[in-house]
Amino acid sequence: MGDVRSALLGIRQYQASGQRAPHKPLLILLALEKFSRTGSSELAWETVEEQLGKLLDEFGVPKQGPQSPSYPFTRLRADGIWELSEDVPDDQITPLRQGKVVGRFSDSIECQLRSDPSQIASIARSIAEAQFTSSIADDVLTAVGFDPESATAGEPSSGTRRRSAAWREQILQAWDRACAFCGFDGALGGVAVGIEAAHVRWFNFDGPDEPDNGLALCSLHHKLFDRGALGLADGRVVVSNFFSASTDSGRRIYDLHGVELRLRPGALAPAASYVEWHTSQVFRGVSLTS
Ligand SMILES: [Zn+2]
Repeated sequence: MGDVRSALLGIRQYQASGQRAPHKPLLILLALEKFSRTGSSELAWETVEEQLGKLLDEFGVPKQGPQSPSYPFTRLRADGIWELSEDVPDDQITPLRQGKVVGRFSDSIECQLRSDPSQIASIARSIAEAQFTSSIADDVLTAVGFDPESATAGEPSSGTRRRSAAWREQILQAWDRACAFCGFDGALGGVAVGIEAAHVRWFNFDGPDEPDNGLALCSLHHKLFDRGALGLADGRVVVSNFFSASTDSGRRIYDLHGVELRLRPGALAPAASYVEWHTSQVFRGVSLTS
């Protein structure tokens, strides 16, 4: 019997020059959550169509156009961990609807999960952290239905790159512990607070720990940057046309559009190739016209 953690984390994904493909992992997370709640991973197509559709809208790759949940629901079979109640062709929605098709993990996977249910939350955490940048892994787990507090980190798989504390410190220093977008530089008892080092190209998608792949950002702007509400173009901040807000404080985000990065002496502007990755894989919609 194989190791359930490696089986669920080791699925085949479309991988070409660091493109994100979170469809199958998001379906696995939904099935894990169902299993942890009910003891069965069974998911009806109509549930997946609705729930996975929402997750793909929120956490999928914006530039890939419409992403149908039918793709992972049918193709996860080829990974040997997923079964459907009917023998339907890949990708097509009509047979799934007509046949009222139900999907679930294979017996072997369910059996291994049942033998040690305590590992489910940590496997879910590992999947979220492998597919998303760390600042939004909690958002993904929450949206799927897990309690991110209880889904603690699993053991890192061998060969996983380790995040570097030195890089983080280097970025914060280079940017003078101030947000590259708004200049926020709060400190508490003399220690910077609410300022984080953000990867432009995500660490888990070949984004290196290099000075030209990082920005110091305040916690709010870090989150909005990682979720694709904010982006970069020609050394300036851009705001997504998908972003909306109605209060003055929310609408202040619009004021960032077109603002030049607050480059400090010693800080490097993010390299064009990392900015391009962020624009194609993370940034949502198109930028506002200034
Ligand atoms: Zn900021």
